[in-house]
Amino acid sequence: MALRIVITESTDYNPAAIERYREIGDVRLEDCSRADLLDLAAHTDVLVVRIRHRLDAEVMDASPCLRCIVTPTTGLNHIDTEEAARRGVAVLSLRGETDFLRTIPATAEHTWGLLLALQRRIPWAAASVGGGEWGRDAFRGRDLHGRTLGIMGLGRIGRLVAGYGIAFGMRVVAYDIDPTRTMSSVESISREALLETSDVISLHVPLVPETVGLIGARDFARMKPGALLINTSRGEVLEEPALLDALVNGWLGGAALDVLAGERGDDGTWLNENALASYAGTHDDLLITPHIGGATLESMHATEMFMACKLGAFFDPRADRQEVE
Ligand code: NAP
Repeated sequence: MALRIVITESTDYNPAAIERYREIGDVRLEDCSRADLLDLAAHTDVLVVRIRHRLDAEVMDASPCLRCIVTPTTGLNHIDTEEAARRGVAVLSLRGETDFLRTIPATAEHTWGLLLALQRRIPWAAASVGGGEWGRDAFRGRDLHGRTLGIMGLGRIGRLVAGYGIAFGMRVVAYDIDPTRTMSSVESISREALLETSDVISLHVPLVPETVGLIGARDFARMKPGALLINTSRGEVLEEPALLDALVNGWLGGAALDVLAGERGDDGTWLNENALASYAGTHDDLLITPHIGGATLESMHATEMFMACKLGAFFDPRADRQEVE
């Protein structure tokens, strides 16, 4: 019997990737709720996901034939990977696909967009014009040129963001847990020195047990007064109550986030319960976007095609080896 492949979030999916999946098995295109997913899962061998769904034991219980989960992401916190491993379900992702990922700039570009928007207060200035005002005095900003950008995690995205910082005439410093990860024109410094000397701190670490709550109250206290914090990595890397305190008491100059802890609610009501999201609705020093860093058409299409080829290679290692390489 042909493999039954369900693409669970198929809106704007790369047509070429869909064709590639069709060469591997029978493809069903969906844009399903969790309830629909639990129904569909009963007759599915391969689930191709983005990040809307939490692939947990309940989904796997509902999916007795499941052989493989395909996700075009490096972060895997939407998948219970231990449960998958226990059941022999393979998880194919972008993790470790370093050469390919170097060609994907979307999250680094979004990080820079957040930084500029926060530094120059662009969303709030635009909203004031939309509200009929033309108040230039209220929106005086600060230069980035000559200031210090601290990159925490000098991997794929951190390196790109560091490059943009250099192009903007910033002094760029970085801390990576792996001291061999260095970059020309970027000064490698300790974690503490980065916290203490950066005007802008941008987080680009993976979410692993060691990085949960990586930045907490003591770290905010170490930061320069007025420093800006950008997080496009994963929400859990920050202690969110500590960030809120640092904003409320005026220690931080502002923060911009593309990710929040536990952000994937299936019913969409969770935002009301997130204190940072509520705060952002009424303050102009916190900017939050809904995890759209990687969501450009080009980046999504490229990763979708890459993952379709990776699935092909998984089921027939000879057929796709060259494509995936
Ligand atoms: P990456 O290439 O793996 O780079 C992460 C770097 O951080 C690695 O050099 C890693 O070292 C280092 N690191 C690990 N723990 C650290 C620590 N405690 N302190 C300092 N450095 C540490 O990852 P990436 O592809 O750049 O992704 C970075 C983050 O962005 C991830 O959290 C990913 O999930 C997220 N992301 C978000 C979006 C979005 O849409 N917002 C899109 C894509 C990715 P080791 O390799 O030695 O661990």
